[in-house]
Amino acid sequence: LTVGVPKEVFPGERRVALTPANVALLLKKGFGKVLVQRGAGTAAEFHDEAYEKAGATLVDGASGVWSAADVVLKVRGPSMDEVDSFKVKQSVISLLQPAQNKELVQKIASKGATCFAMDMIPRISRAQVFDALSSMANIAGYKAVLEASNVFGRFLTGQVTAAGKIPPCKVLIIGAGVAGLSAIATARRMGAIVRGFDTRPAAREQVQSLGAEFIEVEIQEDGSGAGGYAKEMSKEFIEAEMKLFKEQAREVDIIITTALIPGKPAPKLIKMDMLDVMKPGSVIVDLAAEAGGNCEATKKGELAVYNDVKIIGYTDLPSRLPTQSSTLYSNNITKFLLSMAPAEKEFGVDLSDEVVRGAIVTQNGDVLPPAPRPAPP
Ligand code: NAD
Repeated sequence: LTVGVPKEVFPGERRVALTPANVALLLKKGFGKVLVQRGAGTAAEFHDEAYEKAGATLVDGASGVWSAADVVLKVRGPSMDEVDSFKVKQSVISLLQPAQNKELVQKIASKGATCFAMDMIPRISRAQVFDALSSMANIAGYKAVLEASNVFGRFLTGQVTAAGKIPPCKVLIIGAGVAGLSAIATARRMGAIVRGFDTRPAAREQVQSLGAEFIEVEIQEDGSGAGGYAKEMSKEFIEAEMKLFKEQAREVDIIITTALIPGKPAPKLIKMDMLDVMKPGSVIVDLAAEAGGNCEATKKGELAVYNDVKIIGYTDLPSRLPTQSSTLYSNNITKFLLSMAPAEKEFGVDLSDEVVRGAIVTQNGDVLPPAPRPAPP
């Protein structure tokens, strides 16, 4: 079985789907060849020499990968042009967001291909090792704090120096899922005072265990929905939440928002009137920018400025830490591939496997309906 790794084509994308260490692992497990496009890992500091040393076959240009590999591994879903390069019976594993990319999925199917979406792998315990969404969210949360601190004019930690006493920065994290908890841990490690909020009661203990304060509204409403994700909250709850955030906005220096509800636009939780009360130099990082944003002033992909408040709407945070994100993504995708194609065996698709069924989007040209989501834990 030949595995292929083309260079990512999405503008600005710096990640690579497979690291040299995982090339060596696949070859050790009995894969025939791993083809890597020259320069595929350069932006993530994985250089051609390292791939060669690991046993990869370097290929000039992407077409050499697409024409010869049985299974192609990618970070971003294939572009329309890449789909044109598919060979007969091509298999592809990548992030894909099939619900948002229906036209692309149809085109992939029209080529008779089999494709798997890393972002559709069910988030059950057995599949944690394949869970690229969690790996990337962890990095996004960490990087969000670094991006905020880069444009914030002060230390995050408090200090007593000969030149004066410096108070610690106050950070509010809205949404304590994987990204939010990572942001809380990072901001705490940098010495900030951190507060966290979430609609799921289970988040309280997780926030507190990281040394942050869990802030609450008086209304009792459980935000836990199917599969451990959040559900949409009542109008009353959102109003109470926003009142709480407006009080916090006067006090805190940095707000990092991560609130998402699967399949819905991100709830708008930070309104313009809240920005009006924030201190000059305050920073907001909106990790929900891709899904429409949690803040009214967010400009997707940009750093916006409103009334001396900076609003970061970058949607490429994992790619901004390319070595780390490539390493974790490569581990996820390699383990997923190995689960379907262990040593000596042909690449086999077992639809009775809950993880494979969850991730598969097209099989030999047929678009499969999305698998039912797992019940809440
Ligand atoms: P997510 O990215 O979908 O959402 C981020 C957070 O926003 C969630 O914590 C959600 O509760 C919160 N949120 C939604 N609406 C909000 C609002 N109005 N105000 C404030 N917060 C709001 O979430 P995620 O990071 O993907 O994780 C969701 C859950 O899934 C978590 O419980 C996580 O622990 C769990 N999870 C389980 C596994 C596994 O078992 N393998 C893997 C990953 C995540």
